[in-house]
Amino acid sequence: MDFSKTITAEMAKCVHCGSCRSVCPVFATIQREAAAARGKISLAEASFEGQLSYSKRFRVSIEQCLLCKACVENCANEVKTDIVVIAARAALAREKGLSFTKKLIFQHFLDSDRLMPSLLKGGSLFQALALRKIPEQSGLHRRFPLPYFDHRRTIPALAKNPVLEQYPEYISAEKEKLKVGFFTGCLINYIYTGVGEAVINILGKQGISIVIPRGQKCCGLPALGSGDLAAIRSLALNNIATFEDLGIDRIITACGSCGSTLSEYYRTLLETESPEIQQKAESFRKKIMDISDFLVNVVKLPVAGATNGKKSILSDLKVTYHDPCHLRRGMKVYRAPRELIKSVPGAEFLEMPSADRCCGFGGSFNLSYYELSLDVLKKKIEGLKETGADYLATGCPGCILQLQDGINQEGLKTRVVHPVELLTF
Ligand code: SF4
Ligand code: SF4
Repeated sequence: MDFSKTITAEMAKCVHCGSCRSVCPVFATIQREAAAARGKISLAEASFEGQLSYSKRFRVSIEQCLLCKACVENCANEVKTDIVVIAARAALAREKGLSFTKKLIFQHFLDSDRLMPSLLKGGSLFQALALRKIPEQSGLHRRFPLPYFDHRRTIPALAKNPVLEQYPEYISAEKEKLKVGFFTGCLINYIYTGVGEAVINILGKQGISIVIPRGQKCCGLPALGSGDLAAIRSLALNNIATFEDLGIDRIITACGSCGSTLSEYYRTLLETESPEIQQKAESFRKKIMDISDFLVNVVKLPVAGATNGKKSILSDLKVTYHDPCHLRRGMKVYRAPRELIKSVPGAEFLEMPSADRCCGFGGSFNLSYYELSLDVLKKKIEGLKETGADYLATGCPGCILQLQDGINQEGLKTRVVHPVELLTF
């Protein structure tokens, strides 16, 4: 997997104007040149040319990026800083190696048919020993020190029954109008199973048959974000092959990060593979569609069977929306979730200030740099408070996890949900 030509081309497009500093949530917090896209591109370029060593300072600067693409969206030359940062992380991983934990997870668990499900199912049984429930709030606190988990952090519970085990591999609609595949993603499969249930129930009510292939694995974004290109390549080839020849019209995702990885990142990462692999990746990419986009633009509103045809329990309740970075800037989906929320009878939609600003999750970023992640999150929670919303909807389970943590820390009552869940209330 060699995408060095793309990286060289991206770095060459940067004219060092510095406009990206004004939109970078990390730069806004730490105010250092190395935090913003311009600084990261200069660091990466110098290291690729052998002018800079892979020091601890270099590693921290390259790791302190949320891959939120705010810089990409606001750059006149559309420099893909996220890809440059990923390449720099890959070079770091090659030079210094990955940590033992990351190696174990990316190279043995994510790609295994049995280890990952066994580990997480086992974890769901024993989580009560390590975690305690927070009264009145949605989340768990650790009982004793755990690696990567700050004592303030609240953690969602692991589900006892993953989505892939709850449902058959094929759910046939009575009068089939369409047949789609469902890529669940790890967070929906193992934690936010209610989102998966809502997707399956709502699609079923539209006369859509669903294939949920057992062979699907993690999209690979955690490995990509840490620079383990071999691990994501293996996962990408597996996922592309798994959804091939299923006779499906679309592959539905309910996670902006998964959707963006399956389409955008797979294409970039596989661009130097054989024409046969590239052609398969392209056909896979074209089918990827976010659930809100699918319901609004393919099924069309109002969604049949939403709220079971009854008055929604949301009546007279305020709902706002947070744009997941990868859903908005990667998949370009931002109108559809809003339209979907507005279609729920009785729900009052309120736009929150800076709805498209990153929540500070950033995958492993929020584990390695929790304090910084909280600083970014605080600005988001301030915007939420201004709306006084009862529900905060967002189209990415990573954002759900992060936003619910911020809400718990502030002692707010707002509940974080996926837009598609609102249709089932
Ligand atoms: S990444 Fe774009 S906005 Fe930032 S310095 Fe380079 S050209 Fe300017
Ligand atoms: S991707 Fe986001 S966090 Fe990273 S440099 Fe760009 S704006 Fe900053």
